[in-house]
Amino acid sequence: MDALADNVRLLKSRANGAALLAVVKANAYGHGAVAVARAALAAGADRLGVICVDEGEQLRRAGITEPILVMGHTSAGEAQRLADLSLTPSVVSSEMALALARVASERGIEMPVHLKVDTGLNRYGLPASEAADLGRRLRDLAGIQTEGLFTHFASADEGDKGYTVEQHKLFLAVAEQLDWVPIRHVSNTATLLDMPDMSLEMVRPGLGIYGCYPSTHVKRSLPLRPVLSLKGRIARLTSLAPGESVSYGRTWRAPRPSLIGLLMCGYADGLPRALSNCGSVLVRGRRAPIVGRVCMDMCMVDVSDIPDVALDDEVVIIGRQGEEEISTDEVAELCGTISYEILCGISARVPRLYLRQGSIVSKQTLVLELQDEAAANVPEEVLAEGPSPGGA
Ligand SMILES: *Cc1c(COP(=O)(O)O)cnc(C)c1O
Repeated sequence: MDALADNVRLLKSRANGAALLAVVKANAYGHGAVAVARAALAAGADRLGVICVDEGEQLRRAGITEPILVMGHTSAGEAQRLADLSLTPSVVSSEMALALARVASERGIEMPVHLKVDTGLNRYGLPASEAADLGRRLRDLAGIQTEGLFTHFASADEGDKGYTVEQHKLFLAVAEQLDWVPIRHVSNTATLLDMPDMSLEMVRPGLGIYGCYPSTHVKRSLPLRPVLSLKGRIARLTSLAPGESVSYGRTWRAPRPSLIGLLMCGYADGLPRALSNCGSVLVRGRRAPIVGRVCMDMCMVDVSDIPDVALDDEVVIIGRQGEEEISTDEVAELCGTISYEILCGISARVPRLYLRQGSIVSKQTLVLELQDEAAANVPEEVLAEGPSPGGA
């Protein structure tokens, strides 16, 4: 939580006085949406961003009252729910705008919306050529308050910023025609780091809040710190004779008398199967290779070279241990993907422990949520214990 708060403050200080919307979609990139949302707001985030109505509802149910922008598509049929939950929708069609206006007038309220312009990602948004037109119609629509105007970049994390500059120009041309819209926002993490002059009235970092950099091309211009570690414990130790095999498909065979540690973490927890026979973990400050196929719920590591290895030893899958570190980027690269996918792949089965200055302040598991004061009153041994023996 300390790293998260520092990252939020650093990113906000980079934004030329712009407001900061903390992107907490996808369970806050796997970190736990509610805990992250609270911590980000406490550290100075002004708003929150999610993709769908359910994600917004989860935050509202937790008592979060700050503005929440739903950045993805919502159907007109969800207009009532959006109003019930005081969520701010992004609008890309007059159909959606009319549905929202109808609900707003029935209730005698004003609904803020953000108009999403597609400037070249060609994913979600109103084509730039139609955006000004819809914007003007929204202005005249009772019950609708067009509070924001935004776009999303296609290649802001690449070394060549040419396309980003083009998209930005196109966006500003639309914004000029809708100059009464108060909040313009375009910046994701990569843009905020590399092109802070594009910050406008608000920025929308996601990955940077979690202490990762979007790609190797993005400048490490802020000392962001990784927020998450993924850990487990050695649940079992088995000695194998040369030639004996490990896991499904028998893809690994002991080349020598070997000591194999069991880790209760598999691809259902978010440990990619692509790490079979190629990833490693940290035990007692040293690397131990993942051997055999990663299973749904478990994997095996070769701890033959770890002196004094013992049952219950901490295993670091992502994070630091002693002098060694396995970064999310390292895991992603081994799997041929990006840190984003590794982080948001960590599943709900993995207990989340939240620490401040080294002490656990809250805990989220499949069956239990303990918040600040409640967690503070629970002995650490109880908190630190996973729901399953040796759980990840
Ligand atoms: C996910 C997302 C972001 C955040 O992107 P990062 O690269 O994680 O900073 C910003 N805006 C939109 C619309 C998004 O979907």
